[in-house]
Amino acid sequence: MKRIGVLTSGGDSPGMNAAVRAVVRKAIFHEVEVYGIYHGYEGLIKGDIKKLEIGSVGDIIHRGGTMLFSARCPEMKTEEGQLKAIEQLNKHGIEGLVVIGGDGSYMGAKALTERGFPCVGVPGTIDNDIPGTEFTIGFDTAINTVIDAIDKIRDTATSHKRTYVIEVMGRDAGDIALWAGLAGGAESILIPESADDINDVIARLKRGQDRGKKHSIIIVAEGVGSAVEVAKKLEELTDFETRVSVLGYIQRGGSPTVADRVLASRLGAQAVSLLLEGKGGRAVGIEQNRLVDYDIIEALTQKKHTLDHQMFDLSKELSI
Ligand code: ADP
Repeated sequence: MKRIGVLTSGGDSPGMNAAVRAVVRKAIFHEVEVYGIYHGYEGLIKGDIKKLEIGSVGDIIHRGGTMLFSARCPEMKTEEGQLKAIEQLNKHGIEGLVVIGGDGSYMGAKALTERGFPCVGVPGTIDNDIPGTEFTIGFDTAINTVIDAIDKIRDTATSHKRTYVIEVMGRDAGDIALWAGLAGGAESILIPESADDINDVIARLKRGQDRGKKHSIIIVAEGVGSAVEVAKKLEELTDFETRVSVLGYIQRGGSPTVADRVLASRLGAQAVSLLLEGKGGRAVGIEQNRLVDYDIIEALTQKKHTLDHQMFDLSKELSI
């Protein structure tokens, strides 16, 4: 393989730039040319493609977002869009493609692979919900952003004897809520993977109140419902003074942590190694701190990301 392409797609995440840098530098180190595809699959279909040099990815390892930009591209889900994408790749002499993104982006990579174009998926999303990897690029930065917010909110919660309901990202996966909730000493964590309801939350709040607790923090993953609804129910059913904080998009930005920069560098370089070995249709990941790769089609059809239930139980034991 003499020329590869790289794109970032779907929701951006901190560390995507470090992954792009690793792809470019690893490939050039092995005398392979790299073309950057801008604006995800949309740019691929339109031919928004430029050659990247060593210097093109200088001074980006510490920046959030993605220098290649990202986009949602419904056309990529159609046969016509996928054929146009392959036409562009062939036109530019690109022989393999690294796709950095979430599970939606993996579906695009899977579609191209099934049509005979070798792609390797790199897990870039703050949600930590990609099958076949314990951690995704951006998750560590996101939970550190959340913990910074929780710590600040906790100060006010203590000063005013209030209960704070904090909504974090995570439509299908409760990882952000669980990790940040455990690290932030939250009284209750509501996640899509568990059936805990408002009555469990109230029981815990009352237990805390009985032993003289001045404040409480409740973390709600967005997939469970809105923090506003949870707070409203609490005020209806109890006499706790409640406030809401929806953290929103601050969770997606910011300079990546050391863990994310290192993870992105390792996974980006590994994706290039696989392409150079002639292995397409793979997805890279990290398990027990070792690089792994697996069939991208199998990953999307058979594997499933699962929450660490032992950790969830621990969060309950520690917040009695
Ligand atoms: P993420 O990658 O963060 O999960 P999305 O789910 O929005 O984000 O997916 C990103 C892009 O991947 C979509 O806009 C689309 O271009 C492409 N994509 C998603 N699903 C498919 C699919 N089933 N087939 C082909 N491409 C897809």
